[in-house]
Amino acid sequence: MSQTLYLDNAATTRVIDPVFEAMRPYFCDEFGNASAKYYGLGARARAAVFKARCQLAALLNATLPEDEDHPSEIIFTSGATESSNWILKNAHTLRGGARGTPKPAPGAKPHLITSSIEHHSVLETAQALAKAGTHDVTFLPVDAHGLVDPDALRHALRDDTVLVSIMLANNEVGTIQPIRELAAIAHERGALFHTDAVQAVGKVRVDVRDLDVDGLSVSSHKFHGPKGVGGLYLRRGVRIDPYQHGGGQERGRRAGTTNVPGIVGMGAAAELAGARLEAEYARQFDMIEHLWQALEAAVPKMYRNGHPSQRLPNTLNIRVQGAEGEAILLRLDMFGIQVASGSACSTDSLEPSHVLMAMGIAQEDAHGSLRISISHETTAAELERVAEILPEQIRIIREMSVTWNG
Ligand code: PLP
Repeated sequence: MSQTLYLDNAATTRVIDPVFEAMRPYFCDEFGNASAKYYGLGARARAAVFKARCQLAALLNATLPEDEDHPSEIIFTSGATESSNWILKNAHTLRGGARGTPKPAPGAKPHLITSSIEHHSVLETAQALAKAGTHDVTFLPVDAHGLVDPDALRHALRDDTVLVSIMLANNEVGTIQPIRELAAIAHERGALFHTDAVQAVGKVRVDVRDLDVDGLSVSSHKFHGPKGVGGLYLRRGVRIDPYQHGGGQERGRRAGTTNVPGIVGMGAAAELAGARLEAEYARQFDMIEHLWQALEAAVPKMYRNGHPSQRLPNTLNIRVQGAEGEAILLRLDMFGIQVASGSACSTDSLEPSHVLMAMGIAQEDAHGSLRISISHETTAAELERVAEILPEQIRIIREMSVTWNG
């Protein structure tokens, strides 16, 4: 049995030991309900949630809340899928605070703008709203690198646009959008701006004030926190109708018993990610660059997907002519190397990736795509192993192919 080498960190990451240790007491000993603030167990759970709220706020440079009874820009959710569903489905209820509230003309459907390369949690929500006929939705195209053209956004904005939602970094190819510029364009026309920052948080500096976004979705399990917990950042003053009703948790904005261990884990993970951000960015960016150079030199007719420099440090997406992504995955798995073809969230489907198709990549080439995503636990020696094994496996697959004549 060969040693396992996990290189699918864009799908999920390992809960690292200090994060697990931070969570541990809140399962069995400190199991109180964070809403029960008038006795010790509840009050301590509440204090732990407050600490985590501050840790996540600090990572995003959001306003630090005064205490758990005061408003916060961070609302804890079950993950980014919930956060993005919430803001998109309730976009027509958004009030912008100091920025003003977008107002569709009486009787007009609220208009949303998003991009064609969003994660399914945004894309399918927007598609569902359009299909239901409750909202008008514009899906912006991207260029060959996966970038949204700011002028295309400018032209798509209408007086009745209530929300623009464009992801910060793409989960398949790692391209980073010029969010600050896009948000400013939306604001000029009176629309609010949301970004799915799931892949970016903990890997690149995400500063909500600098980006000047009104809403942002984040997910804990992408930066070594636990699964099933995330957050929605809402700029101070922004109001939105609740998505789920029930108890008064999250100051009445998100009902449901607070997931104390999960939130504590996310907070600890956020603090650790923030502390190593700069060093890890440089290290991972270089490691991926070296891997790409080694692979490019060894494998003919292999190309890189996504933007070469405006990209996440940890993601390499390649397309290999004459070899199916799934075949490469299976052969690498024999060596214990675990990578993804396309997006992990859509691996049950044999449809080519919507991201690669939107970037203008031919269907057969999209099928030959592979995503390698590393974390702060990945070493240079491990990637050298990939650089040794992968070219040979591609050669074997091509040799067996009846169509490959390269
Ligand atoms: N957005 C992006 C870009 C993602 O990569 C993912 C997870 O794959 C999500 C949203 C969904 O996050 P969660 O698993 O917290 O619902």
